[in-house]
Amino acid sequence: MSSTIIVSNRLPINISIEQDKIIYQQSIGGLATGLKSFHEDENSLWVGWNGLNTEEVPEALEKTITDELKTKYNCAPVLLTQDDIENYYLGFCNKTIWPLFHYFQNTTVFDPHLWESYKLVNQKFYNTLIKLIKKGDTVWIHDYQLFLLPQLLREYDSTLTIGFFLHIPFPSYELFRQLPWREEILWGLTGSDLIGFHTFDYARHFISSIRRILSLDAKGQNFFYKDRTILVDVFPMGIDYDKFSTAINNKDIQHANIEYAVKTRGNQVVLSVDRLDYTKGIPERLKAVDLFYTNNPNYLEKVTFIMIVAPSRADVDTYMSLLKEIEELVSHTNGKHGTIGWTPIMFFYKPFPFSELVSLYNLADVLLVTPLRDGMNLVAKEYIASRPDKLGTLILSETAGAASELGEALIVNPNDLEMISQQLKVALEMPKREQIERNTILHKRLKRYNIFFWASEFMRKLQSIHLRHTTIKSILLANKEESKFLSDYKKASKRLLFFDYDGTLVQFNNSPLKAVPDAELKQYLTHLSTDPKNCLSVVSGRQKDFLEEHFGPYNVNLIANHGLSFKEPNKDWIETEIVHNEWQSEIRPIMQLFTDNTPGSFIEEKTFSLAWHYRRCDPDLSSLRLNELRETLLDLTGTMNLSIMDGNKVLEIKDSSVNKGKGIQPLLIKNSSVDFVMAIGDDHTDEDMFQILDETDYSIKIGTGKTSAKFHLPDAASFRSLLGKMIK
Ligand code: UDP
Repeated sequence: MSSTIIVSNRLPINISIEQDKIIYQQSIGGLATGLKSFHEDENSLWVGWNGLNTEEVPEALEKTITDELKTKYNCAPVLLTQDDIENYYLGFCNKTIWPLFHYFQNTTVFDPHLWESYKLVNQKFYNTLIKLIKKGDTVWIHDYQLFLLPQLLREYDSTLTIGFFLHIPFPSYELFRQLPWREEILWGLTGSDLIGFHTFDYARHFISSIRRILSLDAKGQNFFYKDRTILVDVFPMGIDYDKFSTAINNKDIQHANIEYAVKTRGNQVVLSVDRLDYTKGIPERLKAVDLFYTNNPNYLEKVTFIMIVAPSRADVDTYMSLLKEIEELVSHTNGKHGTIGWTPIMFFYKPFPFSELVSLYNLADVLLVTPLRDGMNLVAKEYIASRPDKLGTLILSETAGAASELGEALIVNPNDLEMISQQLKVALEMPKREQIERNTILHKRLKRYNIFFWASEFMRKLQSIHLRHTTIKSILLANKEESKFLSDYKKASKRLLFFDYDGTLVQFNNSPLKAVPDAELKQYLTHLSTDPKNCLSVVSGRQKDFLEEHFGPYNVNLIANHGLSFKEPNKDWIETEIVHNEWQSEIRPIMQLFTDNTPGSFIEEKTFSLAWHYRRCDPDLSSLRLNELRETLLDLTGTMNLSIMDGNKVLEIKDSSVNKGKGIQPLLIKNSSVDFVMAIGDDHTDEDMFQILDETDYSIKIGTGKTSAKFHLPDAASFRSLLGKMIK
């Protein structure tokens, strides 16, 4: 039976050891709540760091903890050392990814030593996981601590269903590219079937990096890697709406509420709740509050701020200096505006339990949330949900992920202190009717898209995308299928082999015209072409000269220009069709115009075709131009016998009477009695070959996408390894 495995940096259980007594405390955080129904299933497992340092816990005790976690909580711990905690967690995660992904590039540390630790810990997670996962399992990996894990697992078992969700922002390409390890991180994520983000902007930034850094093709929300389509989608994380909206009925909460009301002397209350973090914009907010009092002296002694800052990452230096700055700003404002009986800002540096937090949410007339960047911000959602009376006004920073959902809040720029101060006044004076109107809409959304809906939507999409992979009609030429292929090949007494060149015999690189056969390929070709049982042909869109230069020395047939030109070993070239290319003089100037306007693109002139290459262009610009060029060409060529073909980063226009299928046909007819036929290629032009083969022949597509080939291989490298097995 297949299982669901959740993987996150920390387990949803907090463990503390007090005088040899182990205390287990279940986390009440959003993630643990949302995934509860998946994790409650007896087949599920949660894998993560247990929060302890292996050097400090005796082995016997560790074993006891591991056993208890497994039997009572369905959890499996990843064990980390002090060094891991310092360099991976406090280091690379909190000093590199966290600041950079929140647009704090000046405080980002780029240290190869921290990166090594990050890789090592991802490997530790992998080592723990492979002892636990089975074929057919679903793995849902969480957050920026584990970017490398999806690909590690995919390599271990290509059939796993793997989802990844990022809980923090994904920055723009310009920022992300600053990371020296940007490629490794993106490759790590390509192992996923589904990658989820809180907002469309984060998803958009991610796809832009995938296209620009890895040069992978993307269409809409999908990108393509090897034989898989990876979906990038938006899942704004919600909260446990019912828990917050019904909490006020609880006696404790009502009691705490009265206590706070007394402390604030019945004043209007503005609340803010954050973890201590420089991304939360706390100093800026305090300055805006100070400005508010200065600009609105009539509110002195009438409005009280309650600022809650929950301690966090106390071991990182920047957090401690931030705390000092906050404390100084609070004293400054209190000293400047306070009176004997009234303190403008009540500041608390401590974590608040749920009951007190909900009391404060209910007491506050305004919640002021002004992070400079925030992946989502759940506090904003909790405040709205905690008010069944639908009263209260939310002021929300436009740079919090939650702003893309909570448009009825008062949206502010967190750096615009004047704007925050003005909006505070608007919020404090907002008529109740307007508050209810705005919040009713927000309640509806929060009630529906709650934390449970969030988790189940992700899982539903993950299963459906995985199903899409497994229902691709062509069969992966691996394992059993590969053995059958090799045995048919070995058994055959006469074989016809048709190999495409670019993307099949050689990998694409950034300059396709320069890809030439390497030593290994030459060795394989020598072997294959000297085997008397083989009749080998290289079938390419390349021109005659190129094929002759590189394959002339071998005993192979050359089929150039997509099937137009044919040459048997030691014979002359012949043309298989009489083609007209007068059309080129009409089309060339138009293509030239697009080339002039698209830096990096160029035209390749062929006997019967013109090809526009855009591999080295800005991907956004080239996709724009590509559509325009395609449309223009379609208009122009409507009545001509021409076809427009999309290749790998190339748009080719050619005489329709020429194609690779027609090119290989004479050889198929001449050798009709062979007992093994194989054609392999990677793009549209190869489909013509696949289509004329028989059902019993081997047609093989390299890469993903729709194909009429019977089989597929992930990439040119897998074909290379197949060639190695064929010659053994
Ligand atoms: N929180 C809490 N006690 C506190 C402060 C915060 O329980 O004293 C909770 C709060 O209810 C929310 C979470 O911590 O659920 C903070 O999540 P958010 O998305 O707002 O910010 P993050 O800390 O994830 O950056």
